[in-house]
Amino acid sequence: MRHIAIIGSGPAGYYTAEACQKAFGAEVRVDIIDRLPVPFGLIRTGVAPDHQSIKGVSRRYEAVAVTDNVRFVGNVTLGKDLSIEELIGLYDAVVLATGAPNDRPLEIPGSELPGVTGSAAFVGWYNGHPDHAALAPALDGPGAVVIGNGNVALDVARILAKTEAEFGGSDIVNHALTALQGARFDTITLLGRRGPHQIAMTPKELGELGELARAAPIVDAADLPQVEEDAALEPGQRKSVTHLRHFAAREAEAKPIRIVFDFFAMPVAIEGDGKVERVIVERTALDESGAARGTGETYAIPASLVVSCIGYRTPPIPGIPYDDRAGRFANDEGRVMPGLYAVGWARRGPTGTIGTNRPDGFAIAEKIAADIGEGAGKQGRPGLDALLQSRGVEVVTFRDWQQIETAEIAAARDGSPREKFTSVEAMLGARNP
Ligand code: NAP
Repeated sequence: MRHIAIIGSGPAGYYTAEACQKAFGAEVRVDIIDRLPVPFGLIRTGVAPDHQSIKGVSRRYEAVAVTDNVRFVGNVTLGKDLSIEELIGLYDAVVLATGAPNDRPLEIPGSELPGVTGSAAFVGWYNGHPDHAALAPALDGPGAVVIGNGNVALDVARILAKTEAEFGGSDIVNHALTALQGARFDTITLLGRRGPHQIAMTPKELGELGELARAAPIVDAADLPQVEEDAALEPGQRKSVTHLRHFAAREAEAKPIRIVFDFFAMPVAIEGDGKVERVIVERTALDESGAARGTGETYAIPASLVVSCIGYRTPPIPGIPYDDRAGRFANDEGRVMPGLYAVGWARRGPTGTIGTNRPDGFAIAEKIAADIGEGAGKQGRPGLDALLQSRGVEVVTFRDWQQIETAEIAAARDGSPREKFTSVEAMLGARNP
């Protein structure tokens, strides 16, 4: 028998569990440990609430979760309820699938002012993550600045711009829906420190900005390279740039919100009297290596809200090798140290789509198989249960989660799949006695 513990129940965690099931069949016991009482990590609290088809992948994880040899062990926090050393002592393999929940810091003066928030917090707020439910972002407008030219920046701009009707069918939490409908933005500026050819936005997601009821994307045609230069782009990127060309060619639309793509624009400071009032931006040009270099020309963009969407970092764990520059665990293709592995964003950093984690999970299962053989007779589940019981930890099972989910479905507003509980207490309270 092989005993495997996976820390984190997001896509990387569940794909790894699925891969271990396939690799070892009945000869494995997998425990998926999560600090929240609810599973699915980024699927639940990262993927945008109006992208339900992407969230639907959790049904696949459910199929893995309800099998006999995989368990969800929720409401258990590594570093508080038990240590990584204890887990390594109990299991043949421990897999860190902890994602990258911390924002990469925006290291410019003024980034600590009220009104500046990282995308982890902002996305967590509208998705009902217990850590961020109380955020109260400054939505009084009239300007918002979204820093970054990736898919998260697109999510944030789109969520800020949508009407209540456009959230139909989404599971945006009520507190965010209400607050956003009271928002007073007329301009949402997407700041890209490089140019249209360097965006990290995928075509489908970028195209959605062109179909919003009350917001119109604005691109300055002068920022676009010669159209012939698009031929050198890979096909997906070419499609994205084609969207930008369409936006640039559009007649001005009489919509109340402008989503302005400000390219070659690097934030250098945030200013305001006790709260954000403006972002100071320096014009850039690309050097030979393709990096953005400031030109010395600066200007100010008025804003009440700044959301920085510039990537994420995995929180370190004391004693575990960590690559500080990359913001993830130091590892050799997933191997961190004997008995310890990393997968997903904790292994490779915050890149790729949900599906990228599937091959990651299968690759790590292969390495585990090669390293642990038939298993070393470690205690696994019974050992974990005894340890947690001795510490009075209230474990949440997958069956408990299904009760929580039933209560969330019952509380949904019309047309919405669920109304999420936004505190751990409320989640725990929703279980049947
Ligand atoms: P990302 O794709 O890495 O984009 C980060 C952006 O921030 C880049 O445009 C980057 O510009 C910019 N940036 C970084 N540091 C900066 C700084 N100091 N000042 C100004 N700009 C800075 O990251 P992400 O948007 O957080 O997305 C993370 C991953 O999740 C990506 O793989 C993304 O595709 C995925 N995701 C997918 C979806 C979806 O499929 N619907 C939705 C959300 C996220 P440079 O290029 O110049 O570094």
